[in-house]
Amino acid sequence: MQRLIREFQLYYRERARMIFAPEVEKREFMFMGFDDVVRRYISFKSLDSLRSYMADIVPRHAYYSVGLYRRPEMRKMEQRGLEGAEILFDIDATGLKGCSYDLYFCENCSHEQDSEMAVCPSCGSDKIKKMDWIDERCIAIARAEVKKLLKILREDFGLKDDDILVSYTGNRGFHVRILAKDFLKLGKEERAEIAGYIGAKGFDYEVFSSSGGYRFPKPDEGGWRGRFSRALISILRENGMEEIAKDVEQGKPIERSFMRKRRWIMEKAVSRMREEAANIDEAVTFDIQRLTRVPNSLHGKTGLRAMTLTYGELDEFNPFLDAIGLSASPMKVRILRKVPKFSVNGLSFGPYKRDEVVELPAYAAALIVLRERGKTEI
Ligand SMILES: [Zn+2]
Repeated sequence: MQRLIREFQLYYRERARMIFAPEVEKREFMFMGFDDVVRRYISFKSLDSLRSYMADIVPRHAYYSVGLYRRPEMRKMEQRGLEGAEILFDIDATGLKGCSYDLYFCENCSHEQDSEMAVCPSCGSDKIKKMDWIDERCIAIARAEVKKLLKILREDFGLKDDDILVSYTGNRGFHVRILAKDFLKLGKEERAEIAGYIGAKGFDYEVFSSSGGYRFPKPDEGGWRGRFSRALISILRENGMEEIAKDVEQGKPIERSFMRKRRWIMEKAVSRMREEAANIDEAVTFDIQRLTRVPNSLHGKTGLRAMTLTYGELDEFNPFLDAIGLSASPMKVRILRKVPKFSVNGLSFGPYKRDEVVELPAYAAALIVLRERGKTEI
């Protein structure tokens, strides 16, 4: 690990100018070291002092608050003088379909397998470690969720591109922030409501039922109402119910007994509508005290840079080309757990087996060592 820490140090010394935090003097910072020491309630008067601090302590993870405070270094929230907090959405591919854990490892006997195990088939121990990996597939999954979120923020909340900031975390996800002034003052409840709305939570088509039948929203209505009706219309058409589809389109009521006998249509419309909902971590959004990563700081599980992206960049963004932070200096790594084939900086590496010793550029070694699948050798 020492070799890698030196690589992090080199980065923070030579590329300190890239480290950035908007309104730096109003933010609370938190750093986690390679020694597992957590440094909280830290504030800086200028970017220069932030940069030299980071070059000095060499953090494994570096964060700052979405909250803007008059006295960010105070420990008690009520003493900090909260001026407002950006709304943060956390999208992480971890746990999303297509990007899950890909290695299960027994800490007792070192047995490893690709499929999930509750107890080790080899020794019976339940000390199972789930190990994930990062690849293009996970990034693509997370990016698709970001795009859904951005669409909702634009269409339903009327936000402009300048009101929204997208950043790559340096690992398997993205942070999206609303910077618009009107949103800064919102409290927990309002933030929870926004988060629920983004995920289309609590949607119930029975609200459209009345004594005169089902009155569905017009397809051109905004928000989830319009999305639901558009989904409903397409499902009716797909099932040869053109007349009913037309009635829905024109806002005519549909007989209740007809729809009730065909609940599956409405259920299907809800699930199709929900495909447009973004998969965000709601607990993050309502928390005013949340932290986000310092732009251009390195992620301690990958060695990749946390980066702010523009809209144009989001589509083409490839962290394995664009977010490389560490040097190419060769590093010997002993493989501890199997490593899948991966590509970074346009070069292909692996797959590697346990106990193999390989020489890799530092940026590739970091992906293996920081994910505990290998260790550096002198
Ligand atoms: Zn075992």
